[in-house]
Order: sequence, then C-alpha cells, then structure tokens
Amino acid sequence: MSPDEFRKRGREVIDWIADYYERIESFPVLSRVSPGEIRAGLPAEPPETGEDFGAILADLDEKILPGITHWQHPSFFAFFPANATGPAILGDLLASGLGVQGMLWATSPAATELETHVLDWLATLLDLPAGFRSDGAGGGVIQHTASDGALVALVAALHRVSGGATEADGVGTTARGAGRYTVYTSAQTHSSVEKACRIAGIGAGALRKLDVDPATLAARPEHLAELLAADVAAGHTPALVVASVGATGTGAVDPVGGLAALAHSYGAWLHVDAAWAGVAAVCPEHRGMHAGVESADSYGTNPHKWLLTNFDCSAFWVADRAALVGALSILPDYLRNAATESGEVFDYRDWHVPLGRRFRALKLWTVLRWYGAEGLRAHIRQHVALAAEFASWVEADSRFELLAPRSLSLVTFALRDSDQRDGDEATRELLQAVNDSGEAYLTQTSVHGRYAIRLAIGSVLTERRHVEAAWQSLASRA
Ligand code: PLP
Repeated sequence: MSPDEFRKRGREVIDWIADYYERIESFPVLSRVSPGEIRAGLPAEPPETGEDFGAILADLDEKILPGITHWQHPSFFAFFPANATGPAILGDLLASGLGVQGMLWATSPAATELETHVLDWLATLLDLPAGFRSDGAGGGVIQHTASDGALVALVAALHRVSGGATEADGVGTTARGAGRYTVYTSAQTHSSVEKACRIAGIGAGALRKLDVDPATLAARPEHLAELLAADVAAGHTPALVVASVGATGTGAVDPVGGLAALAHSYGAWLHVDAAWAGVAAVCPEHRGMHAGVESADSYGTNPHKWLLTNFDCSAFWVADRAALVGALSILPDYLRNAATESGEVFDYRDWHVPLGRRFRALKLWTVLRWYGAEGLRAHIRQHVALAAEFASWVEADSRFELLAPRSLSLVTFALRDSDQRDGDEATRELLQAVNDSGEAYLTQTSVHGRYAIRLAIGSVLTERRHVEAAWQSLASRA
C-alpha cells in the first residue's frame, strides 16, 4: 500500500469509525447471529490475489457487523465496560504506525520511558502510594490484562518466598521442602487468580477461598488468619494473597490493610486486583476503597475498562521491582546491549510474560492529555451518579430488591420473591427478555446463591436517557 493509497484508505477507515459511533444506537446491543453464521458468510479459501480495500470495508458492514456485540453502545451494561475513545484510538493508531517493538529500552527508548512516565502520572492521578512510583524501588508497567498482572504477581511471589529457588527448580519444591505453595483470595475474586495458579504450575489446588462478610461480601481477615496457620502447620508455604478492590460479581472491596498485614507476617505477597474499580480513584471521594494499599506488594487497575482507553491497557505497579525482575529476567546473548548492562534503564520484557511488547503507553498518554484530570473525573462521576439513581429506582419498586450494596457504577439486583427458586427463574427470564429485545445488554451473577442481574454503567456514550430506558425495559417486563 503506497503512502497515497494509505492516506486515502486511512481517511475512509476513520470516517467509517466516526460513522459507526454516530449510528451505533441503530444496532441491537447484543449480536443476534447463531453459532457458525459469520463463518458461513466468508469464503472457504483465502484470496489468491490481493483485493481492493473498498471491498474489504464493504464486507465489514455486510458480513462482520451482524456478528458484533456493540460494547460501545450507550445501552451496554454487561460485564464491565471496555471503553474506546477518539484519543485512545488515535494514540493506538500512531503506535501501530510507528510499529516499534519495545521489548528493551534500547529497542526504542521512548517506548519505555513514556510508559514509565505515564504510569507515574497515573499513580499520581489515583493517589497511589509513593512506593509504587519509579523514582523509588517500585514502578509501573502496562500489562495486557489484569489476568497477566495476577500471573506475574504470583510468579514474583513464588520467586521471593522460595528465595529464588523456583527459578532453578520449578515450582515442585517449596521453601519448606515439603507441602505446596498456597494462594488465598475470596470467593468473590475474579477467576484470573485460579488461572494464574494453573499457569504457574502450582495448580488450582493451591488456591484457598476466603469467607466473606455476608453484608459487604468483603473477604474476612479472620478466615485468612485461620487458613494461613493451618497451612503452615501442614507444611505448606503461603505465597500470595489477592485482595479485590471492586470484585467482579458485586464490586465488593476487601480490607486490604488487614489482609496485607497477615500476608506479610507469613512472608507472602499481597496483590491488589482493582481491575475495574481502581480507576475511580481519580476522584478523591472514591479513594477510601484504597485504604491499606500502601502495604501492598503489587496493584493493578485497567484503564481499558473504565478509563477511556481502548483495550488492551492494564496498569500494574510493584513496590519492589527487583522482586519482579528477579523472577522474570533471562538475558540471552542476542538481547545483550550496553544500556541493559549499564543497569540504568528499565527493560520491560522483564516485567511481563512475553518478550515483545506494543507501544501501548502512547494511547494512555493521548487519553491523559486529551481529557486531563478534570475530564477523567467527570467521566467516572457521571456513571456513579447514574448508578445511584438507578439503584434508587430499584429500591422504590416493591417488585425488585438490591442483592448487594451499590458499588460505584455497579448495581446488583433481582426480582423479589418469597420462593427463591421461582424468583431466580423469573429474574433469569426477565434478563433474557431484555437482552433479546436488543434494547440493552446486562449480565448476571449470583449473590448468596441467588440469581442476580448486574447493571454496570461505564460506556462513554451512556446518558441518563439510556439508563432510564434500561429501567423501563426491565420494569415493563417484570
Ligand atoms: N479482575 C477483576 C476484578 C475483573 O473484573 C476482571 C474482568 O472483568 C479481571 C480481573 C480480568 O480482567 P482482564 O480481562 O484485564 O484480564
């Protein structure tokens, strides 16, 4: 593609995206295709000769769009949001255009230094503890996802608790010789922690689930204390405790400080998973959820969920970068270079799972600069206020009830019914009917064994009228 052709097609693509956002409300939120339908519309064989870009764009409309669930639709209230915005798209496009691979500082110094710098900026914006900043022993890095963050936290924890033995011997040998490495987190915590245990080779059997407070659904430190004592008595080695700030199901917030004190008294690492909620700390009024974070060894939150930045961009900080780099660094001859050997630079290949890395800092930079702290705060505040209003409508309607306290912009509720089984079925049918209508898309969770609907507000395009319409859609079918 010549530069002139690229210019022409590039303009068409940007127009396509801008038009898409202008007409996004004309689509049903949830794709209606059946399994296999999209593939059936595609040629069985790849093209032998190159095709016109116009034909590719036409097929995007005709063949691909029907199979899209519109995550940027203002009536998308499912899972957690995955924000996409103009400045982030343009930042990502610039990164694609530069096409650098920032595995080492030396392979593009700006890619590394901008990343370190914007993660320091973000730490300031979220008022994270000074220990996470790069000018001390800590520092930030962009992981692909929060799941990667949990995995590297676990690998660093295993490295530290084993005194480096895991590096040489694998995870079969614990620091105490017998027993196994163990990991602790609440039943509310995201499944990525169990996945990390499997990937790291300590197995899902390493994971202990903490009881939660029945009202707040936050992990109980007393239960952690019991489990740690019992595991150590049985010859196991506690490696990691994961505290959630904004757990996936209901947005529960664990008592980070209490869990961290216990973790540290047994030599274990404390990771905070604030994948969704953490970015809300751009607003001072939401920083209470971060109480105790100063005792954490690592902390992760996803600008690619609720902070206006296209997937993927998961911010991850460590208090002691030497523990992380020690766990992940291998320096083969072909990567040796003077900057690495000087010890003066960060080589981000040592901070995450793969070697190669995209220049993701560019889109976070464009987002932070375009919106400014004020713009970021307005984005979060608008959604939290809408969720508070929605929760008040649920509470005022005797047919519904909240099943957990509202957490920021997440509301968890169900139809009220004296017979739980009938109530669960009715709530499930209600959710299905709303999703089938195409008017909105919401997902479910379970709270104390009850089927619950989650409404997670976070799309950039969502206005009050969309939340009101979602409530009408639910209430009129209840
Ligand atoms: N942690 C929490 C609390 C989440 O809600 C999620 C996803 O929703 C994850 C982790 C996993 O996120 P990712 O897709 O970035 O791995």
